[in-house]
Amino acid sequence: MADRYLSFTGTAPGRFLTRRLGLPQPAPLERRSLDGGLLHLTAGRTDLGLAPVLARTGLGPDDTGRPAAVVLDATGVRDVGSLAGVHAALHPVVGSVAASGRVVVLGAPLDPADHHQAAAQQALEGFTRSLGKEIGRGRTVNLVRLTDAEAAESTLRFLLSPASAYVSGQVIGVGPAETPVTAPDDWDLPLAGRTALVTGAARGIGAAVAGTLAGQGAHVVVLDVPPAEEEARKVAERLGGSALALDVTAADAGDRIAAALPGGLDVLIHNAGITRDRRLVNMPAERWSSVLDVNLASVLRTTDALLAAGAVNRGGRIVATASIAGLAGNAGQTNYGAGKAGIVGLVRSLAPRALAGHGVTVNAVAPGFIETRMTAAVPLFIREAGRRMNSLAQGGLPVDVAETTAWLAHPASGAVNGQVVRVCGQSLLGA
Ligand code: NAD
Repeated sequence: MADRYLSFTGTAPGRFLTRRLGLPQPAPLERRSLDGGLLHLTAGRTDLGLAPVLARTGLGPDDTGRPAAVVLDATGVRDVGSLAGVHAALHPVVGSVAASGRVVVLGAPLDPADHHQAAAQQALEGFTRSLGKEIGRGRTVNLVRLTDAEAAESTLRFLLSPASAYVSGQVIGVGPAETPVTAPDDWDLPLAGRTALVTGAARGIGAAVAGTLAGQGAHVVVLDVPPAEEEARKVAERLGGSALALDVTAADAGDRIAAALPGGLDVLIHNAGITRDRRLVNMPAERWSSVLDVNLASVLRTTDALLAAGAVNRGGRIVATASIAGLAGNAGQTNYGAGKAGIVGLVRSLAPRALAGHGVTVNAVAPGFIETRMTAAVPLFIREAGRRMNSLAQGGLPVDVAETTAWLAHPASGAVNGQVVRVCGQSLLGA
């Protein structure tokens, strides 16, 4: 469903009218290339060794005064006094960051033995989220907590690229990696030689994820329910992958996936999901159980079966799909919110264990309002509210979730584990 308001505000009368009425002014997001160079700033003393990693991102140093990206290394901020360095570094430049530009703040993990360091580092979260809400013009602001710049290269590349257009106001923890993080031979084809399975991939976000993973070199298995087999086959044909007609709620779904993939899986994307909205007072048990079964129980069952069968290869990547409704709650979605919150619990608990010795990571993406058939079915006024109630004042596209998933699936993202990353334009819900 096209966002006509976004097109309208791009016209001269649209701009005039919406400004006069004080209505949201969404800026079209640049999803192809960032226009400009990179400004590297520091606050506090740092020995992160960031410069060589930033030099490899492809963004040259800014020499125009209109940077496409600003990276502030604030890992050395250890007390409230040194927070002044954050203001001193960003205050003079933030207004000149190009439209659709990026601000990435780097912080350190909170030190449980030093409450002054913890207070100052936690302050960076409130700073990042507040700047994200005020910066405007399609620009994003994110915080990465890290200890090792090399292990964070895939994350920095993602956040400093158009691929993260709809990711803002996020706090992402990186590393330290348990197994060494190795750079791919080709950063454009990081998934070459890898097999990825995407559930619910006949359409919508799942089809976009399959397309992005295939574009990065993966052999993709497009799984969807038997009634969608024809659509799944078409997607698979287009991507040079294969289709698997299977209902993920089948008790033996994990065994059947393992049997269909004798070489095992490198990337497992749990994307299939359904909604059956009703307020709890009107919700029959069937609506409750069908949503919980597809969105949560089947994810647990198939993950357990695939791990038990040894079907997730060493260095594997598991990415499950949560939702901001699971983080913030949503009226009419007690079943959906419960299931999606369950995904967060699964990720937090399994991530440290899956990694042990095998280099497998477990993360989740939590989409906000994404333009798909699922959201096109939402009543008009609620749909408009969902689109506008975020810092970017627009809905995301399936490709935004796909790019975020691909970053988490990246072989060099081994130090990103147990994270729940919202792809929501910094939605007011749960942001
Ligand atoms: P969609 O309805 O367009 O596509 C979902 C796909 O999953 C369909 O192809 C469907 O056939 C498949 N599927 C459903 N039940 C299945 C089952 N039992 N076995 C196998 N396949 C099954 O939905 P979408 O908008 O693309 O959403 C994809 C995921 O993203 C879902 O998990 C959804 O909850 C989540 N999400 C979407 C949004 C959004 O704004 N669209 C927001 C937050 C989260």
